[in-house]
Amino acid sequence: MYLFKRANDLRAYLNTLGLKNQSLGFVPTMGALHEGHLSLVRQSIQSNAYTVCSIFVNPTQFNERSDLEKYPRTPAKDIELLSKVGCDILFMPGVDEVYPSAQTAMAVPKVALNGLEQRMEGAFRPGHFKGVMQVVKRLIDLINPQKLYLGQKDFQQFLVVRRMVEDLGLPLEVIPCPIFREANGLAMSSRNERLPLELRAKAGLIYKTLCDAQQWMNRYSPEKVSEMALQQLQVEDFKPEYFEIVDSQTLLPLQHFDEAAQVIACTAVWVGDVRLIDNLYLKQAF
Ligand code: AMP
Repeated sequence: MYLFKRANDLRAYLNTLGLKNQSLGFVPTMGALHEGHLSLVRQSIQSNAYTVCSIFVNPTQFNERSDLEKYPRTPAKDIELLSKVGCDILFMPGVDEVYPSAQTAMAVPKVALNGLEQRMEGAFRPGHFKGVMQVVKRLIDLINPQKLYLGQKDFQQFLVVRRMVEDLGLPLEVIPCPIFREANGLAMSSRNERLPLELRAKAGLIYKTLCDAQQWMNRYSPEKVSEMALQQLQVEDFKPEYFEIVDSQTLLPLQHFDEAAQVIACTAVWVGDVRLIDNLYLKQAF
């Protein structure tokens, strides 16, 4: 595996590959890698001639300084894991490489998101999706991949980035990848590392509640199901922020389950001092 810290070196290397008819897959991450991240890298390796993974803890998408400071960082282990799964190229830039001037730091793509960025995560993390679009656009410009792999775990992020790619007419495919979970159902996340063991075990309740919601939808309205879910998540050490049942295309809330072809439940819950998000399709059209 080749490791680059500087954008110029990465570009120079990519140019030597002469990728005319061969595709380049790209997996952006913030590191502290787990099986969920690696599943994206594996998927990219299977479908592309070369795979680039990036590790960059993007300061502009954190709305709280303490969250940025506490974000887990395990670079040596990450390099080992990526090298083991057969990733071709790892890009680990510093902030100055990604945002070399005030201008790049300011450049947030202007995209018609139709409110996608305002609900749920957008409402609780002001400015978060601006930062996400800014960094993903910058990395796409640097790497120029044909395929971009994103996890469904960050479902709203996937929708926002896909809309950005469509709206700007960028020539790449955005590929959603399934959520990897721990044995108790907890969605894998770098943030799980910060949970004390007892809370990590207890956090399986989030996935259990999403699965229960799938049962409840046969008998109750979306509003009632959300209410029941929030109540179930009100246990010691837990503080649910939202449990929303929405149309998975627009993220708009539903009055009835038959209003949308695809319905997804999305939730954010504080467990101790760690904020976790998860989601589950309640209804999916094939
Ligand atoms: P992050 O490092 O948290 O920014 O995540 C990098 C990418 O990995 C994003 O596209 C995430 O959605 C994806 N990802 C994170 N956790 C999981 C998981 N448990 N299963 C699948 N993909 C994930």
